[in-house]
Amino acid sequence: MKDKYRILIIDDEEVVLDSCTEILEGGDYQIATAADGTLGLSRVQEFQPDLVFVDLKMPGISGLEVLEQIHGSDPTIVTIVITGYATVSSAVEAMKQGAYDFLPKPFTPDEFRLITHRGLEKRKLVLDTIALRREKELLRENFAAIVSHELKSPLGAVQQNLFNLVAELSDTVTEDQLRRLERMKSRIADLVELIHTWLRAISVDIETIKENFESVSVTSVISKAVESIEPHAVRKAIEVVPSLEEPLSPVLGDEGTLTEALINLGNNAVKYSHMGSKILIKAKEEDGHVVISVSDTGVGIPEEELPYIFDDFYRGKSGQAAAGGAGLGLAICRRIIETHDGSITAKSELGKGSTFVIRLPAYESNTNH
Ligand code: ADP
Repeated sequence: MKDKYRILIIDDEEVVLDSCTEILEGGDYQIATAADGTLGLSRVQEFQPDLVFVDLKMPGISGLEVLEQIHGSDPTIVTIVITGYATVSSAVEAMKQGAYDFLPKPFTPDEFRLITHRGLEKRKLVLDTIALRREKELLRENFAAIVSHELKSPLGAVQQNLFNLVAELSDTVTEDQLRRLERMKSRIADLVELIHTWLRAISVDIETIKENFESVSVTSVISKAVESIEPHAVRKAIEVVPSLEEPLSPVLGDEGTLTEALINLGNNAVKYSHMGSKILIKAKEEDGHVVISVSDTGVGIPEEELPYIFDDFYRGKSGQAAAGGAGLGLAICRRIIETHDGSITAKSELGKGSTFVIRLPAYESNTNH
């Protein structure tokens, strides 16, 4: 439960500060005031308000600048601007900059109480959302810890023992026994791989990769991905054809996970394609974005499945029919691409093939305008 809400009022008119304080007195709030922008900003730091009223017209640093700095230091603080009728247009400007509402002067005590109430409701919503998000993150982290300690480690031990046992017994067991042991080995290897995929999908490191973002060459991402997809493709006599409209701008991101996303798309294309077909990987630049597409001429995706294919654990009819896979590949792709402020979409026609398109903001545009 939160203790008293903190409200800060920044206004150069003493009478406004006094009357606002008086109106809220007796309520369950802690109130602080500041007579100019500079003072107000230092109060924000020490008082840590939930709600800040900012007069737009003050001598010294302007209300708009105060707003900007508050939102810069803590975007969760709810701000309301106080303004004279003459400056409604700047109130609109303030709202565009993230102020929650505005209160024209002069205002009645009831109007002030009402807007305070609404501002605090908004703040409560913001805090609840943050708490929920944190809770979800904790659940993910706990689940990852449980999966890795309670499942992965014992399974790893079983796998190792089985491996040794098969090696030790290979001369003494019958062919049939050996085949059964080998089957156990391969089933356990599948399980270990599944757990790795789960961990990858839920691990928080996708979020933390943001800290190490750097300029990444899309050409290099594509060539690394193609290198990794090719061995699978060769087994189905599938040709992987890259086609890049160079020069391409780099993107800001993490090369490893971007490559992983593209490998996932490429491996899916192989998995859902017919023997002897072609997979096209194209890249071009369009409207400040680098656009990468992976097209196959495989089984395609029914229209009714398309909205769900990027969901966790979703497997379409063709996915269920195919061996392996946990329905997480595309979910991981989406998470990776969204962490890069990009988007991923799919188009498909049943029986004809599918195209997956990744759009990432270009980091340094090659065009000079
Ligand atoms: P899976 O492990 O089942 O492949 P994904 O998350 O990678 O899981 O994909 C989700 C579903 O989307 C798959 O089960 C499959 O039905 C469909 N899908 C993905 N890629 C393709 C593709 N290139 N062609 C046809 N269907 C696809």
